Amino acid sequence: MTQRHPSGAKVRPAFPARLVSVEPVAASGGKLASIRGYTQSHVAPIGVGLDSGAVRQKMVAKIAQGGVNHPRVLAALAAIDRDRFVDSALVNQAYEDTSLPIGLGQTISKPSVVARMLALLCDGVAGRAGRVLEIGTGCGYQAALLGQLFDEVYSIERLRGLHDKARDNLRHLRLANVHLLFGDGMQGYAKGAPYVGIIAAAGGEAIPACWLNQLAVGGRLVAPVCAAALNGGEQALVVVDKTAQGVRQTMMETVRFVPLKSGVA
Ligand code: SAH
Repeated sequence: MTQRHPSGAKVRPAFPARLVSVEPVAASGGKLASIRGYTQSHVAPIGVGLDSGAVRQKMVAKIAQGGVNHPRVLAALAAIDRDRFVDSALVNQAYEDTSLPIGLGQTISKPSVVARMLALLCDGVAGRAGRVLEIGTGCGYQAALLGQLFDEVYSIERLRGLHDKARDNLRHLRLANVHLLFGDGMQGYAKGAPYVGIIAAAGGEAIPACWLNQLAVGGRLVAPVCAAALNGGEQALVVVDKTAQGVRQTMMETVRFVPLKSGVA
């Protein structure tokens, strides 16, 4: 059945099998809540405090102090409740600047790193128009943030258990523009291409050529890559800008992400 975005635009068909598209948020219409104006609509989990919105503001303030000052990224971080994406035993740490286990040996990145990567992505993409691709849905937290920042988000995960978990975690947000896909992100997702932005949450030996092929001219890719030049196979964040003249690659700081693996499981 053809699905429609609230704007009336057709939602692209699913690949390989599953496309999660839920109803738009009635209260906010899916729009960004402003940092100051944000109010929490659900009961905060025990341990996070009575108002997880306030805890989130503190997290955002620290991230801003740490140097990420992209207003839209900070607003997205203030709007999305990270505590809803981690296991109940870890909610106390949901707003600390730390990576946390999300099951199946994978981790949700620490918020400052997520913020940094999103700011790099947004800096390289003019406005919010167009589709973005996320490789490595994990628990769905970054997909939710991307959903606040871009018109259409395709997020692909190779582990069925996490793909399902992300779908459950995202349900309460009702983001009609976030599409979860189960598959091998090493192949990208050709049906959604070209993308104005591609962001990977797992690091491989190199950037797969198909990611660059699926990136729009004028688009930006942000990914951790195991750089041969670095000690002991350390990873560095790499930014790739695709222009009409070719691709320009910039190495940023070292990072630590889970490995990019091929195939599904
Ligand atoms: N953005 C996620 C981070 C998850 S960790 C979050 O907010 O939670 C990185 C994820 O990348 C893991 O879930 C891992 O299974 C996934 N991954 C690794 N290789 C992949 C591939 N080839 N295709 C899709 N997902 C992959």
